[in-house]
Amino acid sequence: MSYRAPLKDIQFLLHKVFNAEENFASMTLSEELSEDLIKAILEEAGKIAEELLSPINQAGDKEGCGFDGGKVSTPQGFKDAYKDYVKGGWSGLTGDLDYGGQGMPKVISALIEEMFFGANSSFCLYTVLTTGAALTINEHASEELKETYLPKLYQGIWSGTMCLTESHAGTDLGMIHTKAVPAKDGSYSLSGTKIFITAGEHDLTENIVHLVLAKLPDAPFGPKGISLFLVPKYLLNAEGGIGAKNNVSCGSLENKMGIKASATCVLNFDDATGFLVGDLNNGLSNLFTMMNYERLSMGLQGNGLAESSYQIASAYASQRLQGRAPSGPEYAEKAADPILVHPDVRRMLLTMRSNILAGRALSLYSAFHLDISRMHPNKKIRARSERLISLLIPVQKAYCSDKGFEACVLGQQVLGGHGYVSEWGLEQNVRDSRIAQIYEGANGIQALDLAGRKTLRTKGAQLNLLIEEMDKFISANNSKKEMKFYLSKFSDVKSLLVEMTTLVIKNGSNNPDEIGAASYSYMELMGLTLYCFMWQKIILATIEAEKSGQDDKAYYDGLIGVGNFFFDKLLPRSISLAEEIRAGAKSVMNATFEQF
Ligand SMILES: Cc1cc2nc3c(=O)[nH]c(=O)nc-3n(C[C@H](O)[C@H](O)[C@H](O)COP(=O)(O)OP(=O)(O)OC[C@H]3O[C@@H](n4cnc5c(N)ncnc54)[C@H](O)[C@@H]3O)c2cc1C
Repeated sequence: MSYRAPLKDIQFLLHKVFNAEENFASMTLSEELSEDLIKAILEEAGKIAEELLSPINQAGDKEGCGFDGGKVSTPQGFKDAYKDYVKGGWSGLTGDLDYGGQGMPKVISALIEEMFFGANSSFCLYTVLTTGAALTINEHASEELKETYLPKLYQGIWSGTMCLTESHAGTDLGMIHTKAVPAKDGSYSLSGTKIFITAGEHDLTENIVHLVLAKLPDAPFGPKGISLFLVPKYLLNAEGGIGAKNNVSCGSLENKMGIKASATCVLNFDDATGFLVGDLNNGLSNLFTMMNYERLSMGLQGNGLAESSYQIASAYASQRLQGRAPSGPEYAEKAADPILVHPDVRRMLLTMRSNILAGRALSLYSAFHLDISRMHPNKKIRARSERLISLLIPVQKAYCSDKGFEACVLGQQVLGGHGYVSEWGLEQNVRDSRIAQIYEGANGIQALDLAGRKTLRTKGAQLNLLIEEMDKFISANNSKKEMKFYLSKFSDVKSLLVEMTTLVIKNGSNNPDEIGAASYSYMELMGLTLYCFMWQKIILATIEAEKSGQDDKAYYDGLIGVGNFFFDKLLPRSISLAEEIRAGAKSVMNATFEQF
């Protein structure tokens, strides 16, 4: 079954829940974004997802990428699809206008990314890495590098990568070995081997622009000695066109569980020519510009594939006939009832849908703050959003990718054995979504970042900003009687989060192991609280739409129904997460090495 762009849900969220036009009006955008224009862009993107990317998804998974003599070929159909994608102008959507980009806000491209990931995650990765690389170059590179590389990246003629990982250095990048030696002409000569590089080599573009972390010979030890370099696959001639081949080569492709049409490469740099991006020894922090966007994308990957799985599973459940409804046959004339009558099948589908809607809302909420942090005219408001973003992104990345994977597994379960075999595409979604929990910083590291750097180190100051946002919402809507039930649940979980934050800070200040032992449960509690916040917003918008007499009652009632499921069946998990946090580090740390 092919992917269908969830445009109705997306438009509702964007316009009714987040009042997109109002939000955009407060920012300095290149052009006015009317509801009609946004609708047209998203519909066009939906068509790309449905008609161009989805049809080559399963075949791409079966064929995988080819590797021959250092050359990588993408599966059949990918080159043509990429050409159409570029022709449609999608590659420079969020790019800087001064260098040929289209200056669209992240909110719009985030929704498009979710659709593209849902339709074909492998394909989408080639494009997402380019967007991120261009963003980093735009923020930190010299004017000369920007003028040389950005227009081609925005046109999609060249693509980008991010080369951090080495075989002995993944999470702990301070240990990287790749060396950069200054050359007389101001460039650098890079040597080393990077592994797991997404889109490190392929046949979609004429050049590939690698952003590489490396150390100068005399660099300070650890993360503070890392610099960032731009290393093109082909050097440029005097006219800025393709010149001599640089000394970068693809040694092999990784064999992996999923995203098989995405080339994951071992890249060798043998005295390759590179150009410094940003200040020396500041590479890691420069790369963080890109990482907030890349991490947002990984949450979107989880959500996109969850949506794809939900579409298949819900359609299947209304047709597959097995057993009878517990309260008696619904379709006595048939041999059995559709499995949708069974409460447990409903549990799975409703869990999927309620997390998908909240996950999409959280991604949009985060993307709005990313846009505000760059495009709001008021400096204070920009700074506030930047601080909120640093708290939201680790949660959005980890929680949306976890819930996305969970939804893919649930979708597989709804189909029983038919979900395990490859025909329906659900097992591919499980395999393709799994990586989002690992790359761009494994989810355990996101949780640690949240509990350690963002919470303990700021003594909860970052969280206070989010609590302010939540309190503002509660006081603005407290008098609405239809919201009473939901707001009281929200207040409870918000208070629990505050209580657990105080506990995590107190325990973590006395014993660093307490932070690591509490971090995952704390991230999940924050994720659940944020999903609850998003559901408040969705329910409020739904109630208001119903009140204003807009038709489509069945759709709105359906949304309220999914929301009620979230409050009844998913939110109570906050209690057990709090218990996990209260239990502390003892049972985690008591075991000796030999006992493992
Ligand atoms: C398909 C794929 C594509 C990728 N694409 C890219 C890419 O384009 N560019 C790139 O540079 N990299 C890429 N990566 C690498 C990816 O980002 C890393 O695999 C990831 O960051 C984890 O690093 P690692 O695999 O070395 O695991 P490790 O760092 O060895 O971690 C292993 C486990 O230990 C945990 N852990 C490690 N340190 C700590 C700590 N201090 N506290 C608590 N727990 C800890 C981690 O959470 C993890 O669960 C890709 C990987 C894959 C598989």
